[in-house]
Amino acid sequence: MTFADLGLSDELLRAVTEAGYDTPTPIQAQAIPSVLMMKDIVGIAQTGTGKTASFVLPMIDILAHGRSRARMPRSLILEPTRELAAQVAENFEKYGKYHKLSMALLIGGVSMGDQLAALEKGVDVLIATPGRLMDLFGRGKIMLNGCSLLVIDEADRMLDMGFIPDIEEICTKLPAQRQTLLFSATMPPVIKKLADKFLSNPKSIEVARPATAAINIAQWLVKVDSRKKRDALRDMLMAEDVTSAVIFCNRKTTVRDLNKTLQRAGFKSGEIHGDIDQGSRLAELERFKNGTVNILVASDVAARGLDIKGVSHVFNYDAPWHPDDYVHRIGRTGRAGAKGVAYTFVTAEDAEAIDNIQKLIGTKIDLFQAPSIAAPAEAKVQAPRRAEPKKAQESRASRDQEPAVRVERPREDPRPARRDTPPAQRPRRHETADDGPDEGWNGPMPEFLSVGFSG
Ligand code: AMP
Repeated sequence: MTFADLGLSDELLRAVTEAGYDTPTPIQAQAIPSVLMMKDIVGIAQTGTGKTASFVLPMIDILAHGRSRARMPRSLILEPTRELAAQVAENFEKYGKYHKLSMALLIGGVSMGDQLAALEKGVDVLIATPGRLMDLFGRGKIMLNGCSLLVIDEADRMLDMGFIPDIEEICTKLPAQRQTLLFSATMPPVIKKLADKFLSNPKSIEVARPATAAINIAQWLVKVDSRKKRDALRDMLMAEDVTSAVIFCNRKTTVRDLNKTLQRAGFKSGEIHGDIDQGSRLAELERFKNGTVNILVASDVAARGLDIKGVSHVFNYDAPWHPDDYVHRIGRTGRAGAKGVAYTFVTAEDAEAIDNIQKLIGTKIDLFQAPSIAAPAEAKVQAPRRAEPKKAQESRASRDQEPAVRVERPREDPRPARRDTPPAQRPRRHETADDGPDEGWNGPMPEFLSVGFSG
């Protein structure tokens, strides 16, 4: 099947070809014709499946005719985070370059002036996070009764972030006669109820987790002592072929502290988490995308769904609490058919989390050959494949101790991850763990936090 079989306009096909895509992904093949027929859709698909284009492409053709009016957007896309909203906007720019659609991005953390000015002119597509939208709606700056197409993206993430009441309210402000598309990686009962209430006779489409996660990503568990995580990470960053890496932590304070430590050790790293203002978050992402920094320390909320090419490694510095987060995290590598490697640090306290992850992905993750703290005296760290940062060299020279992990190359063929067990039910989480305090790992965290690379 080609994109031309899906009923898209010539202008759109041209833009898709120029974007480098010739074959629709399964979600695109199934969703695009139905969306063009104005059907409601429930898409069970996560990022990495090509789901963004599955709604952006038909929306562009649907909205190609008709005119927008001041403060009355013609369509609305709800995204849980600013980064995802910005990414969807980029998709509209990429695919809509031969159309004259107007678009506005309504996200928290940036000045409202420009956003209001765009709305005032009238927009065909409004991409918003629920909080900022409700804020402007409450102040009478925006009317939703001209919105005939609604997309609720990453609905399960919205649930995690406590946005469902906002979304329900937003749905009641839109005209009853509208087209609604809902996408979610999983379908917990609350999302199912939302779909039943606000969608009309939707077509259900479920696609497998992205093939990239299954085939291209080698996954490994790395046993570490919670007090030696930093040393372990440093050793691995130096010994692996890390061209660029995203390092995930469960708490934003850990993100901040770890980034500082990495920078002190001479690594080119940056950080992104929920406490950083929007402008800085986007600037930091840009620095990572353009290679100014090649290591990004991140929290789940800030990095979810980010589409950055060429990330060679993902490190789960903290094993994620929620198994779905694991799948999202490792999906930052191995994109667009490239190979990727995902290492997850595990301490004694992580047994249950790892168990849940393995149940979700339906396969066991092998232990990386890293004797960790028990590294034998003759253990050697392989010569780094990239220039070792100066400070790291100094710190290594000054440390007369064994490496925190002995790094051996994992075997070449990454094992496919199957998903034949149902996802574990997640407890409701408000505003995400990203906003939680950094309480550490059952006690030893204060000591662990005080241990820098140079000891
Ligand atoms: P998404 O699931 O929307 O986050 O998309 C994941 C990645 O797949 C993005 O880098 C897209 O640019 C890319 N992509 C979207 N559609 C296709 C396609 N038909 N073929 C190959 N890659 C695609």
